[in-house]
Amino acid sequence: MASAFPAVPPKSTVSSILVALRIRPLTTKESKESTIAVIKPISKTSLSVTDFSDAQDVLRQDRPREKTYDFDCVFSETASQVNVFEGTTKGLVDFVLQGFNTTVFAYGATGAGKTYTMLGTQENPGVMPLTLEHLFSQIGKSTRAQTTNGPNAVTQSFKVTLSYLEIYNENIRDLLSGRPDYLELWEDRLRGSVVAGIERVEAKTAADVLEWLEKGNLNRTQEATGANEASSRSHAVLQIFVAKRTCNKKGQYTEQSGKLSMIDLAGSERAADTKNRGMRMIEGASINRSLLALGNCINALTEEGSNGKYVNYRDSKLTRLLKDSLGGNCKTVMIANISPTSSNFEETLNTLKYASRARAIKNKVIQQAPIPIPKPLSLTSVASKSKLIAQKS
Ligand code: ADP
Ligand code: MG
Repeated sequence: MASAFPAVPPKSTVSSILVALRIRPLTTKESKESTIAVIKPISKTSLSVTDFSDAQDVLRQDRPREKTYDFDCVFSETASQVNVFEGTTKGLVDFVLQGFNTTVFAYGATGAGKTYTMLGTQENPGVMPLTLEHLFSQIGKSTRAQTTNGPNAVTQSFKVTLSYLEIYNENIRDLLSGRPDYLELWEDRLRGSVVAGIERVEAKTAADVLEWLEKGNLNRTQEATGANEASSRSHAVLQIFVAKRTCNKKGQYTEQSGKLSMIDLAGSERAADTKNRGMRMIEGASINRSLLALGNCINALTEEGSNGKYVNYRDSKLTRLLKDSLGGNCKTVMIANISPTSSNFEETLNTLKYASRARAIKNKVIQQAPIPIPKPLSLTSVASKSKLIAQKS
């Protein structure tokens, strides 16, 4: 399936967030039980949901039992990981290489398929590994292409670095260093949202990134809850920074940086649903605070195009971190995950509503302009001097 984003970003553009909906297949346990399918994909962009929320209404047949929802893409139970990747994040890679900030996040209740979609398995790698493979393959292609252009050609080199963090109870922890202390979040005028003191490592291949991811995942906070025995109650944020340095025929250097954030959000179910008290209650409230703030920002951005409403990023750590990834300088993909069964009906409906709200966002896309640099410095020191220049739309 072709991505809804064009392969090459236009010079100046107003684009919307891409919202995809993925229905997971029944688990082995579910297929043994007599569960009723409440979700039916109708086309590549729409699905219908049968409302079981009020049995009396259904019996009286006095309101439509089926409701239709439209998204940019709907992936049915049979969609492969490659189908999902090609329809969502594949189109983001060229944007990152051209100096745009891009984000993909998986939303949904615990057990709806977020981690499967993002990380996948050894046999069926998900959106993260597939996107990274594509990123490094595009970097390789671009590097190989220029060496055949002769000694006077414009030359380009890329450096990829990454950080991996989790937000748990509104605290940020570095998953790469594994240090238990909480990190501060700063807003840098030039660099956007910056996590102070976070470890940033270099990766030369997609396999390097996955190795770091695996190490980082060992440090994730996982707790047993009533909803899922080892459900993750934290938001996991992988950020990939791509710095592209270009040298023209006159020997002048410029540099552009793009950022790709990939986020496996915590389960969106309400604290009350997981029969939790005490610490689990606090977790539920913190998770909801971030998801609520994310929803509010998305909603305000949706309205921003029409009435310039103020977007409040400050309400949660997640939205503060994503400030430069949801608004102007960004392309965003939301993959909302749902279960097909009646037992998860309420959560499914909440996810459908949340995802529908996100569809109307119109972002003004800002590309980081190439910055002249005097001579080749270390890429990290150059990155700190970077400057975002808004394109005229
Ligand atoms: P979440 O991260 O949202 O809590 P998971 O990704 O862990 O949910 O998915 C719950 C279960 O369903 C896991 O056993 C996972 O392997 C399985 N699953 C989810 N989505 C799919 C899919 N598209 N195809 C096959 N199995 C899936
Ligand atoms: Mg998960």
